[in-house]
Order: sequence, then structure tokens, then C-alpha cells
Amino acid sequence: MVSYDWTALDRDLRRFMPKKSVVFKRQELLVYDCDGLTIDRHCPPLAVLPETTEEVAQVLACCYRHGIPFVARGSGTGLSGGALVEQEALLVVTSRMRKIISVDLENQTVTVQPGVINSWVTTAVAGEGFYYAPDPSSQVVCSIGGNVAENSGGVHCLKYGVTSNHVLGIEIVLPDGTVTTLGGGLSEHAELDLRGAFIGSEGTLGIATAITLRLLRTPQHVNVLLADFPTMESAGEAVRQVTAAGVLPAGMEIMDNFMINAVNDLFGFDEYPRDAAAVLLIELDGQAAEVTVAADQASGFCRQAGARNIRRAEDAADCALLWKGRKSAFAAIGQISPTYYVQDGVVPRSALPSVLAAIQRLSREYELPVANVFHAGDGNLHPLILYKADAADVQTRVRDLGSAILRECLAAGGSITGEHGVGSDKRCYLEWMFAPDDLATMQLLRRAFDPDMRANPGKIFPTPKSCGESARRQVTLTSEGIEMPSDVKTF
Ligand SMILES: Cc1cc2nc3c(=O)[nH]c(=O)nc-3n(C[C@H](O)[C@H](O)[C@H](O)COP(=O)(O)OP(=O)(O)OC[C@H]3O[C@@H](n4cnc5c(N)ncnc54)[C@H](O)[C@@H]3O)c2cc1C
Repeated sequence: MVSYDWTALDRDLRRFMPKKSVVFKRQELLVYDCDGLTIDRHCPPLAVLPETTEEVAQVLACCYRHGIPFVARGSGTGLSGGALVEQEALLVVTSRMRKIISVDLENQTVTVQPGVINSWVTTAVAGEGFYYAPDPSSQVVCSIGGNVAENSGGVHCLKYGVTSNHVLGIEIVLPDGTVTTLGGGLSEHAELDLRGAFIGSEGTLGIATAITLRLLRTPQHVNVLLADFPTMESAGEAVRQVTAAGVLPAGMEIMDNFMINAVNDLFGFDEYPRDAAAVLLIELDGQAAEVTVAADQASGFCRQAGARNIRRAEDAADCALLWKGRKSAFAAIGQISPTYYVQDGVVPRSALPSVLAAIQRLSREYELPVANVFHAGDGNLHPLILYKADAADVQTRVRDLGSAILRECLAAGGSITGEHGVGSDKRCYLEWMFAPDDLATMQLLRRAFDPDMRANPGKIFPTPKSCGESARRQVTLTSEGIEMPSDVKTF
């Protein structure tokens, strides 16, 4: 186990960082001992809260001189343990970097510091008729830096794309303290798309310190449909029919019976029918005439698929009311069970009913309740596994159930993550999806940014320590350059 000279680092940081920005007391550091994946906890040895790019650059240069790893943290809402300091590392928290640097409405862009909260971007420009499309359900708390690092999705990503489609340029600080820019303010660039490589890299390539985002015009008209179904299969069939017909909703979300009752209990009124096996929310947006036609079509498909009732909201207040339960789904589960574990798998839309049936079977087998809420249009499942923290063997059972669910997703032709990232939670599953050559090639890219692998160490990629012998194949850096495992093809 490597041990670093924390006293020397602390002393050096205090040379340029204000006293209030270096956190070293254990009781204050405990606030950072986990992210949204509360099943894993590790208290960092030291944390620093920079306010400017220059401070981040100085902090990382200082880590470089001392050979100390670092972990970036935004709001700490990540659900895969990305911001967890598992190995000794300095925690660099961006929550004081909350300035909207510039707004350029003519070119529909905004540039922000990484700690800016997602929903603040829309709030800043809504009065001028613009908004920022990617909307994770955590949007009132999660940071833009975290969104970039996780390539976050959300309800509206079905129609408008995920974070990557809305980030034009990123200023980053590399692990040696160098400041550089990837992309810029334009949609197209001549160079290799390193901006694209950084988005979704989960803090393993450096720290984003300024991000230029694309703004969209607020849609003229919005309708929301709420359809309830007697079976999950019929709700899945409605999603299939809507999509097959070429109707492109802004969002399509499903909640199962467990979740319906949880949100009704949370608010104390029955907004969603309690006896429904599933409710489907469909949002249509655009020009008024277009929305009316699309909403009529979508309603027709829901009815054909077996919907019992369909409600249609046409004004902003009614639309918000229909969304309220969906947006509070995780909070509703938190009311029932303060400890829960969220999985994030993807399946082809056609496989939704069979995989959901398999999840129900696994829930019974492992004797752990599972509630489901998901981005149905994207086939992105979010099974929430409820558990009591003090039950015997519970952590192992929870993880085994989570892993069995991901195996079902893969067997159906899906993926082990849709939008929450790999982090520490799912690194051991990466080998289920990628051949050693693929993983080694990804590591090569990582090494190009971070030759010493000090940025968010141990995350994303399987390591022998965390995942056993099969992960022993590492890319190594020798005096002659990069050495691939002997059986990996090079190009
Ligand atoms: C209730 C709830 C609902 C959620 N709903 C969604 C959803 O609908 N869609 C979705 O995609 N996610 C969702 N999430 C997950 C989470 O909110 C997102 O992953 C979000 O992008 C994390 O942002 P954060 O600021 O909290 O990042 P953190 O958790 O602090 O960090 C996440 C990762 O980003 C890295 N990082 C943070 N800042 C930087 C930076 N400036 N530069 C480089 N790396 C950085 C960290 O090292 C870490 O690996 C949800 C979470 C919760 C708790």
C-alpha cells in the first residue's frame, strides 16, 4: 500500500489556497465519504475547494510534484462511486466553482464553471426563451462538471441526445497542472474529437474547469400523456408502437406498480392509479399543430396496446403535476427504505418486458424488493434494490442481485450502464462487454492524458486488486514507451 506525504502536500497547498479552502479535519471530511452509491464509504485524507481554474491548475501541479493522486467531485450525486476516494488521494471539490462565465444568446451558447448546478443553466436563460436540454432527475443538485464526466442523460435525452450532444468545448486541467481546451464554441472542429473522449471519462483524464454548452429554444408547445396499463408487457408494447410509427416524443418514462404506490404515498394523493401494473408518461413538444397530431397518435397507440385510461395535460401546471411523481421517484423510495441501491442497465426496447419479468423473478430469488422506474424510450432501466443496512450478508446479496440484473441486460443484447457510469461499482463487469484489446486501447488513451494514472485512480477499469486475476493485463509505461499486454494486437 503506497503512503503519501500528506503533511507536505497540506503545507504546499496552504501556500496558495485560502485557509477555508483546505479541509483536513476528519469530522468535516466525513461529508465526502460517499456519493449517491451509499453502500460504499471511504473518508478522504484531505480535500481542497478551489474557486478558479488557476487554483485547480496549482492544486494539480502540486499533486504532480508530490506524485499524489486526486479525485474530482462535483455535487456527489453520482450513483457508481465515481467521486469516492477509495485509494489514498486528494479530493478536489468543485462546489465553489459556481459562476456562469458568459451567455451568448446570439450563438445559443453559455459557458459555465464546473460546479454550476444543471438546472441553473435553464433558469439563467429561460426568460429569453432558451433552455439546456439534458435533464438528469438529479438536475436540481448535480453539477455540470459531473454531468460532463458521466455523460449524463435524462428524460429529454430520447429526443435531444445526452450531455455529449450539448457540450461544445471544455477547458480542462491535465494531471500535471497544464490548462488546455478541447473543442470550442463552434459545432465542428478540425482536430480529433478529444472533447468527445473527455465526456464520459469519469474524472480519469483531468478536471473540467469551464464548459461551453449548447442552448436550445424553449419549445412553443408541450403536452404530457399519462397512460396506465394492466400489465408491464402492454406498457412496453405501447412504447414499441409509438417508436415504430416514427413519433419522436421528448421523453417516454415507465414506473412499475411498486414505484406508483411509493410516489402516491410520498405525496399523500393518488396521482397515478394504484392498481396499474405500469404507468407510461409521454411528453410531446414542438409547434402547436405538430404536438396535437403527435399526442393524438401516441394516445391511439397506447389504447391499441391496452391502456385503461389516458390523461392529457396541455398547460404547464398540469404537465408539471403529471411529471411530479416521476421526478420524485428516488425520494419516494428513500421514504420507504433509506438504504437502496440503484442499477443502471440498458436493453433493446423490444426486450423491456422480458428483462423486467426476469428482474421480478430475481427479486423473489434474492428476497430483496425491487422498484422500477426507467427511461423506456431509451431502454434504460433503473431497478432500485431496497435493503436494510443491518441485515445479515445484505451487501453481498444486494451486489449479487445487481450483478444478476446486469447479466440479464447483457443476455438481451444490452449494456451494463446507460448513464450512471462505471465508477468503482461496475468496473469488474467491464470485462463482460469488452475484450482485453478494447480495454487496453482505452487505457492507452487514458495514459495519453495521464501517464501516471493519478486522476481518479482505480476507477472504470478492472484492476487485479478489485476484480481478481483476470484483470492483471495492464498497459505499462516503459522507458521505450507504452507496452501492451503481449497477446494484444496493435495497429
Ligand atoms: C436522485 C438521483 C437521480 C439521478 N438521475 C439521473 C438521471 O436521470 N440521469 C443521469 O445520467 N444520472 C442521474 N443521476 C446520477 C448523477 O446525478 C449524475 O451522474 C450526475 O452527472 C453526477 O453529477 P455530480 O455533480 O453529482 O458528480 P459527482 O458525483 O460529484 O461526480 C461524478 C463523477 O464525475 C467526476 N467529476 C465531477 N466533477 C468533475 C470535473 N469538474 N471534471 C472531471 N471530472 C469530474 C467525479 O470524479 C466522478 O467520477 C441521479 C442521481 C440521483 C441521486
